[in-house]
Amino acid sequence: MRALRYQRASQDKKEQGKSVHDQGKLNVKEINAHGWTDAGSFTDNDRSASRHATKEREKFELLIEAIRKGKGDVLVIWEMSRKERDLAVYVQIRDMCHEVGLFFWLVGGVLFDLRDKNDRMMLGFQAVQAEWMADSIRDNVLRGIVGAAEAGRPHGTVTYGYRRIYHQRTKALERQEPDIEIRQTTAEDGTVTEYTHAGVVREIFEKVSGGTPLITIEQSLNASGIPSPRGARWLRGIIRKIAMNPAYIGKRVFRGEVVGDGIWPALVDEEVFWASVRLLEDPSRTTTRAGRAVHLLSYIVLCGVCGGPISSSNVSRHGWSGRVYSCLKKRCAAVKAEFLDEYVQRVVVAWLARPEVFEDLSSGVGDEQVSHARAEAERLRADLEDYKKLAESGEVKAIDFVRISKGLERQIAEHDARAAEAGIPPVLRGRIGPQAVTAWAELGDEVGVKREIIRTVADIKLLPARHKGDRSPFGAHRLEWTWKFGPESEDSTAG
Ligand SMILES: [Zn+2]
Repeated sequence: MRALRYQRASQDKKEQGKSVHDQGKLNVKEINAHGWTDAGSFTDNDRSASRHATKEREKFELLIEAIRKGKGDVLVIWEMSRKERDLAVYVQIRDMCHEVGLFFWLVGGVLFDLRDKNDRMMLGFQAVQAEWMADSIRDNVLRGIVGAAEAGRPHGTVTYGYRRIYHQRTKALERQEPDIEIRQTTAEDGTVTEYTHAGVVREIFEKVSGGTPLITIEQSLNASGIPSPRGARWLRGIIRKIAMNPAYIGKRVFRGEVVGDGIWPALVDEEVFWASVRLLEDPSRTTTRAGRAVHLLSYIVLCGVCGGPISSSNVSRHGWSGRVYSCLKKRCAAVKAEFLDEYVQRVVVAWLARPEVFEDLSSGVGDEQVSHARAEAERLRADLEDYKKLAESGEVKAIDFVRISKGLERQIAEHDARAAEAGIPPVLRGRIGPQAVTAWAELGDEVGVKREIIRTVADIKLLPARHKGDRSPFGAHRLEWTWKFGPESEDSTAG
């Protein structure tokens, strides 16, 4: 008797079953016990036989071929579900075996004769049962994922910046929290940097929301030697993905959609998150396609007559050629682009530089984030005081105190900064008050960030010239200007 044996392992870790190695050993033992010849062994590792499986099972196909060619007299498998769960395939193989004269199946040590109607019934029953098992497992796995998503529990890989805490004994997930473990890395130039995963995420958001280009963030992370989430170098795509992941404001995402609140805390404020998303989605920040230059005010300034957008175009007439902004839909109003660009920037920068604006935005009265950040800074200050006392009394070694206090002071500074800036829209941080003029100049041709700043602070509408051939210089009379916040937001232009 020539025996063909087949072993298969499922990729489903939750499924109980013997490994392919164990199945192989058991099958060989059976073959030897019966005094058969081992005519061929076929093993599929990490394959699922269920009809929902997506991978090809190559060795299984070879087994079928061997059966078809009449290379065996008995088929040896450890259990039905290990061979083939799909009922239709089972029937096909059974009939094929019968046809070629392979009448014996040894399943889990029990010999079946395909010519015997009772044996056929028992095998058929096992196949039905195996299919039912496969379907149930699949249902349970799916229900588990959907259930976890609906309950706001995390599943899958841990989002970078967080860590999961499991119950020591039951291993059940207790919570997901910011990963604030202090890590150390050495850059190529020997500089040592201390960082936390949560800190890296916050820094990415602060920079992106402040308009720092992704390439600059990529370069600075790689220069510091901090490994990417996958442990390799940072790429713009990774940073972009992080800066647009709603998990960082505590939202549960399932199959690309926000399905509700997660059970974990946010790592960044919603304001910073949405500012990042807005900046990354601004078409002016994506690659400039040929023939479609990005202009400072197109689609930001609106037409004062019809309310439609103003777009930029090149014109050439009456011996003059250059760029103009004009009402896109009906041409109600138009202006030389350099006039509008220059005027709007001058007014915006002057406004950003005003001490009242800085004061007004910095006060952030009643802001929950502000009070939280202040409270956190206070708590850390108290901790620091405690450590000082312990260090003085010798309960904490001086060297440890230096290390601890450094860390605490840095955290306090962070919280203080957050408290001071929480009332300021992310894109304006570090760009208002006394820093306004320099900061604007430093932006250079970062048109996307300038656009975001202008869009954040003002609603601007372009009015038509009073009459044809109006020679009065371009100025406030050609614009309807509303500040979105700040002192005297009803106040019109300052220029
Ligand atoms: Zn118009």
